[in-house]
Amino acid sequence: MTFAVHGLPVARGIAIGRAVLMGGRVDVAHYFIEPSQVDAEIARVREGRNAVVEEIQRLQHTIAGMGPKEAPHELSALLDVHLMLLQDEDLIDGVKHWIRERLYNAEWALTTQLEQLSRQFDEMEDEYLRERKADLEQVAERILRYMKGVPSPVAAPPPRRRTQELLLDDSVDVPLVLIAHDLSPADMLQFKQSVFAGFVTDVGGRNSHTAIVARSMDIPAVVGARGASQLVRQDDWVIIDGDEGVVIVEPSPIILAEYGFKQRQAELERGRLARLKHTPAVTLDGEKIELLANIELPEDAAAAVEAGAVGVGLFRSEFLFMNRRDGLPGEDEQYEAYRRAVEGMGGLPLTIRSIDVGADKPLDEADRHSSHLNPALGLRAIRWCLADPAMFLIQLCAILRAAAHGKVNLLIPMLAHASEIRQTLALVDAARADLDRRGLAYGPVQLGAMIEIPAAALTLKTFLRHFDFLSIGTNDLIQYTLAIDRSDESVAHLYDPLHPAVLNLVAQTIAECQAQGKGVSVCGEMAGDTAYTRLLLGLGLRSFSMHPAQILAVKQEVLRADTRRLREWAREVVAAEEPAQLMAAQGPW
Ligand code: PEP
Ligand code: MG
Repeated sequence: MTFAVHGLPVARGIAIGRAVLMGGRVDVAHYFIEPSQVDAEIARVREGRNAVVEEIQRLQHTIAGMGPKEAPHELSALLDVHLMLLQDEDLIDGVKHWIRERLYNAEWALTTQLEQLSRQFDEMEDEYLRERKADLEQVAERILRYMKGVPSPVAAPPPRRRTQELLLDDSVDVPLVLIAHDLSPADMLQFKQSVFAGFVTDVGGRNSHTAIVARSMDIPAVVGARGASQLVRQDDWVIIDGDEGVVIVEPSPIILAEYGFKQRQAELERGRLARLKHTPAVTLDGEKIELLANIELPEDAAAAVEAGAVGVGLFRSEFLFMNRRDGLPGEDEQYEAYRRAVEGMGGLPLTIRSIDVGADKPLDEADRHSSHLNPALGLRAIRWCLADPAMFLIQLCAILRAAAHGKVNLLIPMLAHASEIRQTLALVDAARADLDRRGLAYGPVQLGAMIEIPAAALTLKTFLRHFDFLSIGTNDLIQYTLAIDRSDESVAHLYDPLHPAVLNLVAQTIAECQAQGKGVSVCGEMAGDTAYTRLLLGLGLRSFSMHPAQILAVKQEVLRADTRRLREWAREVVAAEEPAQLMAAQGPW
């Protein structure tokens, strides 16, 4: 039966494929293994199962010698049930299927099979049998716990592989779409090199970091599609409409045909845009516009240049620090990573943002489940760095060393206080002194601050006194101005880039920088959204930083714009009570 689930559109386009469910458990690793690793992964599960069987048998042996008071008969019966479930071939055969045919790692295969069997239990008429689902979950949990102590031999996710190779028993090349309750930004990044043609999550806001990473992958995605991971079943056919935020499950042939047509139209549009790649971004009235890229990994740098960026305006360095088993990266490892990014730029500037973890960007699973009441208002970004100056110094030294290999800008996130600025600048000086002491080469960097807290936007003079350039982080500026958690889908309708308060802060920041002859760019998601290109141009913005996939669409807007005609209109939009209405009316183009 066809049905639809509605959510928030985060990455454009249409994906049609079979559902891969990443079960409710988000604390197990999910990655694809190489075919040569299949036997080893199956052996891990079998070993886990056997260990748990032995554990239960030992327990049975112990309680056999006890009286009915210490070990009631029910306990022994329960252990029998657990043993029976563990020895049920459906569990192990299913797990083997997911490992062999789909190349899931052992933990992913086990949780997927658990999900399948749980649904079968849910459908059982007999209440006693239905309740055995809890026992099944318990035995799976025990196996997972055992496997945690026996890590997978696969250290890193393998490279992108064609879907056909993953569906060894399928003769056709079937795209796969991932359906999950939630994905951390690091999980999402892990899938960057994988096969998925689209993503759906139950939770998340349009500008959560998970959504941002999905957008950077340039494949259709919908977040906040509540209940999707419960309603969609493994292998269901799914259409993801990333333009409208709709997920259609088991579509009829007519619906499939319609979306197939839309998909082809989008491909044609991409082809048309590709012709603009080598066209300079200049407006009709001759204003040169700088289109920069936002990246997450050093390897993205060369791809950004290839996509037509004239530099990187935001390298989110925190992704180098996430989900690591062996502690934070040391200075040499970071230096090598930044150097790779600098070299990938081929002489174009690279803006490295110092680490911005916290809130919806946890370092790892433990961090994710920590119980801070308001993580977005807590120890995040520069606050986290200044709380651990030794760690921050290591990053600063690594960035300064990388600057010896090309043009590097250093961007500091989430500053609000003059004291934070002072401490940060003192640490940059300390990093230089440390490198001098050690006789290590380093290069000059332009220093920039992100304007993403209203307090910063309202004290621009302080910032401009100390920094060479500013970069407006609209994602957080909107979150903190409107008191809307950017990763909470329940308040997503109030997350409004066009709120007059937000527009005034953005407009003032641009105007103040221009007045003082300092560089200013926008690196939040507004910069890559063509709905706002003309408004930002009208406000005087000349530097936009966005996902590489958005560059050509924004360039098309730039080529059609006349900033002289947009100026007055933009002023009116900012002054309006309901700017969205003015924006919707035909502008001066
Ligand atoms: C922003 O806040 O706009 C920004 C670019 O930074 P991030 O999305 O990483 O918080
Ligand atoms: Mg931010």
